[in-house]
Amino acid sequence: MKAQQFVVIGLGRFGSSLALELMKMGYEVLGIDHHEERVDEMSEQLTHAVMADATDEGIMRSLGVRNFDCGIVAIGDNMERSILAAILLKELGIKQVVAKAISVLHGRALSKLGVDRVIFPEKDMGIRVAHQLVTPHLLDYIEISKDYKIVELIVPACMNGKSLSELNTRAKYGCSIIALNRESGIIVAPTAHDHLYKGDIVVVIGSNDSIDRFENGAM
Ligand code: ADP
Repeated sequence: MKAQQFVVIGLGRFGSSLALELMKMGYEVLGIDHHEERVDEMSEQLTHAVMADATDEGIMRSLGVRNFDCGIVAIGDNMERSILAAILLKELGIKQVVAKAISVLHGRALSKLGVDRVIFPEKDMGIRVAHQLVTPHLLDYIEISKDYKIVELIVPACMNGKSLSELNTRAKYGCSIIALNRESGIIVAPTAHDHLYKGDIVVVIGSNDSIDRFENGAM
């Protein structure tokens, strides 16, 4: 089942922006931080914001943290506390635990503890920005495996009015357009008769090479 209720531990830059985005998407978020100031800043914007030490088992139990679907440990200023908070969330039985790591070793320790997803925000953002810098039309991408990805690209002026059959991406480049996103709505699995217009967003799936060929050839 999709997570509905989130507990975010550590309301620094990463934790607070993640918590606010979840709120924007309509989810319930409990934010926990041991600094009063951080809690005060967020208290109006989250479902609940509580000042507490997330490494204190008694407090975490009394907050009912185990009833949340997903717990995110966003403590980046102290590895020991991040690890203790992650252990506690796992022990309390939260279904999905996500934690931010500040170093490779920290990430490895979190994985060994059974954290379901370890993220490296600075490293991941660096990689993302590098891709966006060298591919001007690239909005976002997801790596499916080492060799395959899904990318979101802005349709350039040169493709304006072209149908998917004219572009013939599967035969020409080896990748497929799986969705079109435009102001009037999203077209999932577009047909050969659908047209692209300048400013639309295309979602393309394929091998890294095929997508590179598509970007270089068509864009
Ligand atoms: P960022 O780099 O995303 O700004 P920080 O590492 O600066 O993240 O912030 C981490 C936050 O986690 C801080 O607001 C800090 O008060 C909070 N924090 C650290 N340890 C604990 C803890 N044991 N319990 C609750 N909050 C904590």
